[in-house]
Amino acid sequence: MPDISLHPLMQKDQDFPELAVLRETFERGITRDFSWRCAQLLALEAFLIEREQDIAGAVYEDFRKSPAETFLTETGYLRGEIHFVLKHLKSWMKPHQVSIPLIYQPAKGSYTSEPYGVVLIIGAWNYPLNLCLAPLISAIAAGNCAVVKPSEHAPHTAKVIAQGLGHYLDRNAISVFEGGVEETKALLENRFDYLFFTGSQSIGREVMHAAARHLTPLTLELGGKCPCIVDENVDLTVAARRIVWAKFLNAGQTCIAPDYVMVHKNVEGELLLSIQDAIADFYGDDPRVSPDYPRIVNKYHFHRLEKLLSRSSPSRECITEPHDYYIAPTILQGVTLEAEVMQSEIFGPLLPVISYRDLGEALEGIGRGSKPLAIYLFSSDLTVQERVVRQSRSGGVCINDLLFQASVHRLPFGGIGSSGFGAYHGRAGFDTFSFQRSVLKRSLYPDPDLRYPPYGSRKFYFLKRLVTFFH
Ligand code: NAD
Repeated sequence: MPDISLHPLMQKDQDFPELAVLRETFERGITRDFSWRCAQLLALEAFLIEREQDIAGAVYEDFRKSPAETFLTETGYLRGEIHFVLKHLKSWMKPHQVSIPLIYQPAKGSYTSEPYGVVLIIGAWNYPLNLCLAPLISAIAAGNCAVVKPSEHAPHTAKVIAQGLGHYLDRNAISVFEGGVEETKALLENRFDYLFFTGSQSIGREVMHAAARHLTPLTLELGGKCPCIVDENVDLTVAARRIVWAKFLNAGQTCIAPDYVMVHKNVEGELLLSIQDAIADFYGDDPRVSPDYPRIVNKYHFHRLEKLLSRSSPSRECITEPHDYYIAPTILQGVTLEAEVMQSEIFGPLLPVISYRDLGEALEGIGRGSKPLAIYLFSSDLTVQERVVRQSRSGGVCINDLLFQASVHRLPFGGIGSSGFGAYHGRAGFDTFSFQRSVLKRSLYPDPDLRYPPYGSRKFYFLKRLVTFFH
């Protein structure tokens, strides 16, 4: 057993004794082995396969999400991510050799991706499995120990995660912490080596504050208002079907859902009709009885959305059911950028539609808000596509579809500005949970006197010539 002396900042570990165990495991170095990382990822995959029904049942209990949707957005995605990581991990772990300038020769230089240590992953409730386990895959791949803190607002899923990870993974390296706001605040008093937070902007600030106390590096995956522009040159039926699918998936409780639509004035009427048709096609005339339409997660969010609704003008009567936290898929017409519903992230099944006369006006309106996680565009015009990409700022862009920019394992996923910073998925996740450690190996000889003081004017002259010549 190695001698691990506790730094004063670690003293809080007594509130969460598992932390000391994780630190000890990390110090022993086993999590750095390629074989350990692969074994843990395969064990995580086994959990996702063998417990698929339990997971689907728990997510359904938490907010009536259908098993198909849970597979698509949670277990299916995570299994794909594990496969992708396993396929590339060996090459990501290889040291990168660098060429050394003549002036420092003879020498060899390289850098490797090294794990931070014990990391804390705090998840949001809206994709309660994915938002805890996708960062965990990256953390394990990079060789870290991890504490996973699922959201208390999806308690059934949190239980399945705690039981599953405890059973399948190395308990001395991966631990689940179940708790609410106060418990998480107390947990954050401890020093972690990296923090990965997914959630709202306001709590993101608190987490960043807690990280600052220990100078802990972090990633913030936050939210915002993601716009979807619909140009005149596009198949409106396909655009409408895709918008409806992406907006009402998870009843609008998706960080990268289209928060609002900006449509060219000339096609506004046709798009609205196609959107209503798509809603009826997907969820029937009464979405209350559709097995594919989830509920709002809790009373707080239900009342928040009801309040927004009461101050807006839906295109049709919107049915809500407080006992069930049900809010029908709802289109809000004639909305302006100044409307209350446009002042914060909606995070629910209300879709404002705003019309524009020219693209410049739409881009100017979008640019006035803070930078979102994603910007969507439906247009068959290449010039329009290029202009939107060039003249907007966001964590990602998806053209002629929505959400899938977050499903491609090779594409980094993250925000910018108030939608967060840092990225993960695939290689980006491995890099996020690693730091790059440089190693320079020099020869003891030659050992010219030129580098050492005293620096007389002649020596300084030669030194300057030499350094500037070789750089
Ligand atoms: P939230 O900020 O309320 O909670 C997120 C997590 O933080 C939970 O685990 C919670 O227990 C914990 N927490 C709450 N208060 C805390 C505190 N004072 N100190 C420390 N931890 C605390 O967010 P939410 O309601 O779970 O999720 C919704 C938000 O998350 C939306 O804004 C959405 O856009 C965003 N989101 C972002 C992404 C992304 O990938 N960028 C993904 C999903 C959700």
